[in-house]
Amino acid sequence: MSYLFAPPATVSVPVVGRAERFPVHRIYCVGRNYEDHAKEMGFTGREPPFFFLKPADALLVVNAGETGDMPYPTLTKNLHHEIELVAAIGKGGKNIAAADAMAHVWGYAVGLDMTRRDLQNDAKKQGRPWCIGKGFDHSAPIGPIVPAAQAGDVLHAEIALQVNGADRQRSNVGKLIWNIAETIEHLSAAWELQPGDLIYTGTPEGVAAVVAGDLLVGSVAGLPELRVRMV
Ligand code: MN
Repeated sequence: MSYLFAPPATVSVPVVGRAERFPVHRIYCVGRNYEDHAKEMGFTGREPPFFFLKPADALLVVNAGETGDMPYPTLTKNLHHEIELVAAIGKGGKNIAAADAMAHVWGYAVGLDMTRRDLQNDAKKQGRPWCIGKGFDHSAPIGPIVPAAQAGDVLHAEIALQVNGADRQRSNVGKLIWNIAETIEHLSAAWELQPGDLIYTGTPEGVAAVVAGDLLVGSVAGLPELRVRMV
């Protein structure tokens, strides 16, 4: 087979303790999945889960022990951090029942759903898609993936983000409105999940702006921390 030009490289994420990398298919994100974050965004209560996507090549892959450089994006004056637990899908499927869903999770990583909040808010007001606020280049920093069996009790782990050493977000993954199994059930009813899919599971309260020069350190207990410098 020949192509008109070089096809894009496969996007992949390093795996802790393994030489093989995790090849990425799609990035699904869950909206408003912690109650106190839903409230800070002007919503209350448990609504059905809803999803948006980022392009796979929007990942900013940060190796263990390193600090990734994220270029401050164009068009925004209000770039927000959203610390999130990321579930990495190893076995695909459609219409997966929540009771069977965790067998589809290969591992976990710490991620940031970086958001051009001003553009997202404009899109909300005008009933337009969120792509420009959410799916821009480098909008999805991620650390190494830890195999599920080695990740400990990540579903009840503390999740936190510090900016320049000060707490911005601190909560517990156990406060997810829709847990990972339920999220997979809903997602796989809408799309056929594939090995290589990543699910950004939502952010707790405390989202706020960053500026060039800021150092973001994200953590989920049991996983390697994610360090990103805004440049
Ligand atoms: Mn998010």
